[in-house]
Amino acid sequence: MKQYEFWFVVGSQFLYGPEVLETVAARAAEMADKMNESGLLPFKLVYKATIKTNAEITKIVKEANYTDECAGIVAWCHTFSPSKMWINGFVDLQKPYCHLATQYNQVIPNEEIDMDFMNLNQAAHGDREHGFITARLRLPRKVIAGYWKDENVQKRLGSWMRAAVGAVFSKQIKVMRFGDNMREVAVTEGDKVEAQAKLGWQVNTWPVGRLAEVMNQVTDDEINSMMDYYKSKYEFATDDIETVRYQARAEIAIKKMLDEEGCQAFCNTFQDLYGMKQLPGLATQDLMARGYGYGAEGDWKTAAMTAIMKAMSEGQTGGTAFMEDYTYHLEKGNECTLGAHMLEVCPSIASGKPRIEIHPLGIGDREPPARLVFEGREGPAILVSLVDMGGRLRLICQEVQCIKPIMEMPNLPVARVMWKPMPDLNTSIECWITAGGAHHTVLSYDVTAEQMRDWARMMDIEFVHISKDTTVESLEHVLFLSDLAWKLK
Ligand code: MN
Repeated sequence: MKQYEFWFVVGSQFLYGPEVLETVAARAAEMADKMNESGLLPFKLVYKATIKTNAEITKIVKEANYTDECAGIVAWCHTFSPSKMWINGFVDLQKPYCHLATQYNQVIPNEEIDMDFMNLNQAAHGDREHGFITARLRLPRKVIAGYWKDENVQKRLGSWMRAAVGAVFSKQIKVMRFGDNMREVAVTEGDKVEAQAKLGWQVNTWPVGRLAEVMNQVTDDEINSMMDYYKSKYEFATDDIETVRYQARAEIAIKKMLDEEGCQAFCNTFQDLYGMKQLPGLATQDLMARGYGYGAEGDWKTAAMTAIMKAMSEGQTGGTAFMEDYTYHLEKGNECTLGAHMLEVCPSIASGKPRIEIHPLGIGDREPPARLVFEGREGPAILVSLVDMGGRLRLICQEVQCIKPIMEMPNLPVARVMWKPMPDLNTSIECWITAGGAHHTVLSYDVTAEQMRDWARMMDIEFVHISKDTTVESLEHVLFLSDLAWKLK
């Protein structure tokens, strides 16, 4: 991952004289330093400038646009900064933008406060003038208010930074597709031209026959070292080593192709496995654990979303996986969902050491593949689905509580996780289906609903949130209005 940074830009003007401007600049630098020292910001906040003119603002925005390391601008107005000088810069801005509405001093100093103090400390109205111009220009933005030393304010800024990195990361994603969609499934389809224009994704196809060729070129030495790596990470619950070695061969070959093409995500389909003996199971699972995105059955949207959410949460617990709603447990009072996939669930969400097992698939017409079997861990999480509504993309985010699976399911040969969706299972199903959410999702214990909302705003796509407070009626109302709004947009 690139060493991203964020630029702290402070608005002012010449009205107050050079001493005030020097104090503002010194304090802004101090604030950036102290917020970096807090350890709560995942990326460096770099104090860039105290800005007084249209030309200065426009120049810094242009610089931010072409600096790859800059993942966003954080702005604040210590003093008053007349808005008209920001217009040209904001019209050009292509990076995520956050308005930190804060104040250098925490409390009003009773004895010290006089007109000099008032001239220097004007954030209460300086930030309002600044808010007006971003509202007037319809600039997608995050507003975070509060004292800059406050832990919660710093955490929220840090959380937004991760969403902004997701936006910058999204703009350069390449998805490798092996095969097309599968068996006439609709929800995995979508407008790839629109996705590239809005989200930056380059989604293109490579022949699975080419993968079979690259697999044939993998050497025994390469497979041996991959097997050592598997032994260090996973428990072998099989003696059929040749079948596991075949997955190692597949993983090495897929990784080679992804890296050669600069792709961060891939999808395939078990309807199109020309030249392959097994569907990649363990291979795909381990690639996801390394940070690659994946979507099954030609699902390039979920593949890219998995990669983005992994990038957003880099350095956290790592619990982000391709997921599918498998089946419900409708026992009254103990309702929950079983999530799993035929093979491809990322072991980053495992509660224990995953086991390598081999079982037949029943569908797909290939040899029984090796796969990782494990239980997902407990904790709050989100499920995210991106669907193409025709003319726009809709991101749906469901809040869930993952639980320890309430039964053993000894004959289910796949990785599994159970969750209780908010506000309750039946309402959540009604909301999800009403919104048109897919059966494929990204499950994440790290990324939050607020971050996905921030990300959707940055990408200019619709966001639908199903939380503990959602009712079917309120959601229908939101979807109705949203449909009209997006048609006009
Ligand atoms: Mn599926």
